Amino acid sequence: MLRPGSGSKVVITTHHKPDADAMGSSLALYHFLAEQGLEVQVITPTDYAPFIHWLPGNDKVLIYENHEEKAKEITDNADIIFCLDFNDLSRINEYGDVVAQASAIKVMIDHHRDPSGFEDYRFWTIDVSSTCELIYDFIDKCGGVELIDETIGVCLYTGIIADTGSFRFSSTSPKTHEIAAELKRRGVNTTKIHELLYDTFSLRRYRLMGYVLQEKLKIFPQYKTALVVLSHEDLAKFNVQTGDTEGFVNFGLGIEGIKLSALIIDRTKLIKMSFRSKGDFPCNELAAKYFNGGGHLNASGGFSKESLEEVEKTFMNALPEFKKWLDQ
Ligand code: 5GP
Ligand code: MN
Repeated sequence: MLRPGSGSKVVITTHHKPDADAMGSSLALYHFLAEQGLEVQVITPTDYAPFIHWLPGNDKVLIYENHEEKAKEITDNADIIFCLDFNDLSRINEYGDVVAQASAIKVMIDHHRDPSGFEDYRFWTIDVSSTCELIYDFIDKCGGVELIDETIGVCLYTGIIADTGSFRFSSTSPKTHEIAAELKRRGVNTTKIHELLYDTFSLRRYRLMGYVLQEKLKIFPQYKTALVVLSHEDLAKFNVQTGDTEGFVNFGLGIEGIKLSALIIDRTKLIKMSFRSKGDFPCNELAAKYFNGGGHLNASGGFSKESLEEVEKTFMNALPEFKKWLDQ
């Protein structure tokens, strides 16, 4: 399928507003394949948070929404398209039609529940911490572990710590730690990566954080639920940029007794929401049933075209149905 050194053309794509696991896995695979002489292009459907722009190879990424024609041409000419960290073409917006229509072989590498089956081949399981962990496995199965250098290691390590909350979420396995140890052995400066990811925020983001905690965080003790709803006016007031609200959904979960935390944001064209839970509460089911979404058991997201008020109502009305998991 892939012929190293032959000039085979590869496209790697990942989901809407890619996070550190999405970009880390895409760029790790990019470096691995490019080093073997393949012609590789990473194409993201949208832009992404500045706090991951330092990842090696970031300057080579093509953003579909800014370069539609060029991205379409490259995709149409590809021999193989790797789809990383998502499993349904709706997750790559309009670029999904371009990928669907391309004649290339499509390979999905992902760790989210309920794949829709658009691909020709899949390297998929929900039993890993991150797509970066799967890329490590993929490289291993290709017999390429010895080719994992510091550059690839930095990309993989970044995605792993982001998707595991720095090794704290239940998806962290002994193997996750073993891979991390191996990457460290190969020269990855783990302290530096934590600094680049978590100590580079803007003052704007911190001010917004203060406002959200003080004014916007609501608690519903009977449902052990925390909720933050951000309107378009809230975003405008703080001149919110891509990435500024990332992680805000976790605030609620840090409160004693809270098992479900929701963040609902008016993104103008759409209302986007994120869910996080502790224990067995199925965030993916909540997102799939009411908000056109999905994800993992303890972390999911979705969207709605209804008004912010309607979406908040839908969320509140759904809580009684899910109370049995909140009462556990
Ligand atoms: P986040 O809240 O960080 O945006 O997303 C959390 C998890 O939910 C991620 O694993 C992500 O893939 C999934 N997710 C977020 N938004 C959507 C969506 O609109 N559709 C689906 N299917 N999954 C989503
Ligand atoms: Mn992921």
